[in-house]
Amino acid sequence: MTHTEKATDLGKDFSKPDELAAIRREGLVKKVCPHVLQASIEIIEDILRRQDEDGGYIRLDTADSAETEKIQTVMKSVNRQNRFRKNVHELLLASDRKIGFIQFDIRRFKIINDLYGEKFGDEVLFFIRDRLGELCNDRQFFLNLRSDVFIVVTEYDTEQDLMGFVRRIEEAAALFKNVRLQFAFGVYFVDDKEMEIRQMEDRAAMARTAAKENAVSNVIFYKEQFKEFLYTRKFIEENMRTAIAEKQFKMYLQPKYSISRNRIVGAEALVRWMHPERGMIYPNDFIPVIEENGFIKMVDYYIWEEASRFIRKCADIGIEDCPVSVNVSRHHLRDTEFVHVLINDIKKQQIDKSLLELEITETANDEQIGQMAMRLKIDGFTLLMDDFGSGYSSLNVLLETPFDVIKLDKKFMDNMMASGKGKLILEHTVSMARELGLGLLAEGVETKEQVDILGKIGCDNVQGYYFARPMPQEDFFDLLKKDRGIK
Ligand code: C2E
Ligand code: CA
Ligand code: CA
Repeated sequence: MTHTEKATDLGKDFSKPDELAAIRREGLVKKVCPHVLQASIEIIEDILRRQDEDGGYIRLDTADSAETEKIQTVMKSVNRQNRFRKNVHELLLASDRKIGFIQFDIRRFKIINDLYGEKFGDEVLFFIRDRLGELCNDRQFFLNLRSDVFIVVTEYDTEQDLMGFVRRIEEAAALFKNVRLQFAFGVYFVDDKEMEIRQMEDRAAMARTAAKENAVSNVIFYKEQFKEFLYTRKFIEENMRTAIAEKQFKMYLQPKYSISRNRIVGAEALVRWMHPERGMIYPNDFIPVIEENGFIKMVDYYIWEEASRFIRKCADIGIEDCPVSVNVSRHHLRDTEFVHVLINDIKKQQIDKSLLELEITETANDEQIGQMAMRLKIDGFTLLMDDFGSGYSSLNVLLETPFDVIKLDKKFMDNMMASGKGKLILEHTVSMARELGLGLLAEGVETKEQVDILGKIGCDNVQGYYFARPMPQEDFFDLLKKDRGIK
């Protein structure tokens, strides 16, 4: 059977992502799929997932050698995953002991990559694979699922047993070249051996995510309540493409004000997902998922286009002093494709480049961002450093990346305002920005007291609920016209 043939016994075409998702949702794979079909479904799923991770840019019919290499890597990974799942499947069938799924990842792996470089990051992953290879016997299986995420499947007799094994993994992998690695573990005790292996993996994954957020323990066991979370993730993955196609993503705009001039000086574009049944979904609820699978690129492209259109609409009524800033996910910064998209938007709407500003989140020292930022500067874009003060090395980034404006993070500002010492730091941050010739804007301004302090220390540009919440673009357009005295 080829991928394009209809799997009539399923009543669905599994080569189409939506129908494939329905097959999974309805549990048809387990119920009616012959083994061969199951295997093909898994391969297609993996290819689709990889395509997502790459923003949909793998083309299977390419002759390009870099692309071919990419496909080979994908196929290797698919094979590894298939082998792992086959082993686990056999273990589930053969074993009369209990079985546990352990999924873990490295805390702040991104920071390790940023600080020590990707090569070091890769070495860390090799190191962990080696340790797991030594630890696991021939009835214990592990898989490096992606990046820094690992799964281990083992038999056990008591929960203590399994915890002991988790701690052994932790001890064996904790120290690499003097860098102490910390892990977040999610554990799922299999209660129904008939369940699909993917579902078991998902449950361990949910527990791992909970472990990342837990300050007390780094090992969390799967609970039924986590299902809601799975539903959300599945929901997002299954609905994101339709959401783009049906224009369910909306651009909201939040005004930026000048305190001294009491006037709107710009806006930030923030995405909202208006789902026909679920209502409004906020970015914090779906962006982490689409950042993980790469779909964020598509959403950003859509918002950039909307923002450019909005800037054109303003220019048409003579307002050409209200730049709109858009968020640029780190995902884009790997290659220059996004620069072409931006330039294209600007050309299409015939707008001034200075009116479409780019917000990039500060991160630890990152050469790639530095280079990309330089490229954008040369191209004439205005760069805003988002979330200044929330990360690890804000000052380093300032040194190496040519930002035009720093956006003080809400938490940073709240913290600093809580003490005399903090206020002093804030004051000096303002003068530092001034001396460096950088613009400054405080985010998340909520109270009159904050406005007064910021005004006094010379941080004139502000954005926050005190002035206005993000609003539909039509409402912002009306507000802006009023602000500029246009009927
Ligand atoms: P961000 O870029 O730091 O955006 C500022 C967030 O703070 C927005 O949340 C905004 O609604 C919220 N905010 C503004 N004023 C106040 C205030 O006074 N108090 C409080 N508590 N919050 C305030 P939102 O819209 O929920 O977006 C959350 C995050 O999602 C954004 O943080 C950004 O990182 C991301 N995001 C939003 N839209 C996009 C997008 O189109 N593309 C990308 N890549 N990321 C986006
Ligand atoms: Ca932002
Ligand atoms: Ca921010």
